[in-house]
Amino acid sequence: MSCNIELICPDCRSKLQHDSRGYNCLACGSSFEILDENIIDLLPKHNKAGDEIIYRHSDYKSQFPYLSEIRNYFYTKKLAAWSMSWGHKNLIRLIGGNVNRTQVDLGIGRGDHYDYVDDKNSLIGVDYDADAMRDIRKKGIDAPLVRADITRLPFPDQSFDVVTSTNAFEHFYYIEVCIEEIYRILKNDGVLAVSFPIVGGWLMDTLSRFGPQREFKRRYGLNWDKVLKVEHCNTSRYILEAVRRLFIIKKIIWSPFVISSHNLNMFVTFQAYKNLEFI
Ligand SMILES: [Zn+2]
Repeated sequence: MSCNIELICPDCRSKLQHDSRGYNCLACGSSFEILDENIIDLLPKHNKAGDEIIYRHSDYKSQFPYLSEIRNYFYTKKLAAWSMSWGHKNLIRLIGGNVNRTQVDLGIGRGDHYDYVDDKNSLIGVDYDADAMRDIRKKGIDAPLVRADITRLPFPDQSFDVVTSTNAFEHFYYIEVCIEEIYRILKNDGVLAVSFPIVGGWLMDTLSRFGPQREFKRRYGLNWDKVLKVEHCNTSRYILEAVRRLFIIKKIIWSPFVISSHNLNMFVTFQAYKNLEFI
């Protein structure tokens, strides 16, 4: 496996040198390891935007042991897993497969999006959670997997034809910085396509109150509102507003009810292009 895209230092953005043990930055001296399962660990050593807030957050710390169980809960409930698949399908409806295009997926997690693309080994997966990405190798996928901080992406300017993300934007702290990073790494004629649950909408919030909320109170005595506040830091309205600062949104798919409403849907998927006025 090799990464066709050049990698840069997340600390100082200089080109990285590759050797058998990992990647080194000759400019600032940072060095980066390759983890087991061939995951390239390019978390910044100095320039971290995200760590501090979330990992010192007392609610996050108390909930952390349960977060993977929360994830498993969603993926083992058929109805929840089925509704989570809408985002992936809608993305493919908007932008098609990924053949002959350079594509990165941000917040790839356990790699669900690989199930929906044609050329699996060419889709670069990025996530903060190396454990989640280890599961991707179990699917026999050999694509480059990069552990990164989404506010300091280790890719040069204008590297990608396509940037995608499914069911992840609601989790990204410093979403404005993430969107600036996406703007930087996307080619000027590239496409951004993103899908996420409608946090802050009436239907989604109501369903989650009657489903997961009860379950988490019963199982762990956890206050679901607090869990959600940490896990889902961005509402759908805020995400779209932040995207529109730098991108022009061309198409939106609302699921399941098609009409344009945050309150009456569960997921939103959009396709956007760079607003080139900012270059
Ligand atoms: Zn450096």
